[in-house]
Amino acid sequence: MGLGNSSFDKLNAEYGEIRRENERLFDERLEKVYTSFPELRKYDEELTMAELDLAFAKVRGTDPSSLQAKRDELSEKRKKLISDNGIDPGYRERIYTCPKCRDTGFIEREDGPAEKCGCFKKRESEILLEESGMAGILEKNNFSVMRTDMMDEETKAHFLKAADICRSFIASFDTDYRNILFCGTVGTGKSFLSACIASELLASYHSVVYMSAKTLFDNLAEAQFAKGDAAGAAAIRDRIYSCDLLIIDDLGTEMTNSFVGTELFTIINERFNARKSVIISTNLELPLLRDRYSDRIFSRITGSYDVLKMCGPDLRSAI
Ligand SMILES: [Zn+2]
Repeated sequence: MGLGNSSFDKLNAEYGEIRRENERLFDERLEKVYTSFPELRKYDEELTMAELDLAFAKVRGTDPSSLQAKRDELSEKRKKLISDNGIDPGYRERIYTCPKCRDTGFIEREDGPAEKCGCFKKRESEILLEESGMAGILEKNNFSVMRTDMMDEETKAHFLKAADICRSFIASFDTDYRNILFCGTVGTGKSFLSACIASELLASYHSVVYMSAKTLFDNLAEAQFAKGDAAGAAAIRDRIYSCDLLIIDDLGTEMTNSFVGTELFTIINERFNARKSVIISTNLELPLLRDRYSDRIFSRITGSYDVLKMCGPDLRSAI
């Protein structure tokens, strides 16, 4: 969890590569236009000089009117050349894969530190998924591979209703704050539907952290008790608390102790206060959830989560 230093450096190097490639494409495009229209190169060079002369004239306080007239005349000639020949007027515009952050990965803010761009968070999530070994799970678990033909009618109707709720969760993700608790026995499609949501939201530039409860709490324990790696521990917590969607899979399969209980409540509560969505899946029945954790966790979940009870036989071979 949390991008380690080497992954972070790798991601920054990736952005450097994107900038260099776009710079190369820009130069190539410009050279092509100039080769086809050599007068355009001449006008552009002369215009640059004319602008410089004007700037100097202003600094020196001399009359700029003749320089302005020269600049305007050049500008008109250039405009005519562009329109007469159908040249793309944006030929000198820089090329960016992500115009929002200009391929830096960060967006400057006037009132605080630079903010990670959506494209950066998405890559960060992808790298985290790759590192967590779950990328393969998402590839095989998404709406495009959803099959219901092996289900009996009742299970199918129930499953499709749950899938509809998941789709509406995705569709309203940016406007409505919602959480989901999937409960039900093994193989009823809980993890499948969680993965479908993760897959769709990642595709629409949201940061998603998808972890089994065991991995989540193991990571948090490591961050809490590991000595000396304060930055790594902060990165882990930051990812869990700041991602757009946190998916905790298989709650109840981890070793439960007071550390887990406290951490689970803090995650659920902090994310609730920040209106950041959580999806939890569990094999535990609701009363068992209360018994295993605490009343405050139980009431927070039942009070602010859509509870989807999944049912039917083990469907893992069908979906
Ligand atoms: Zn960006």
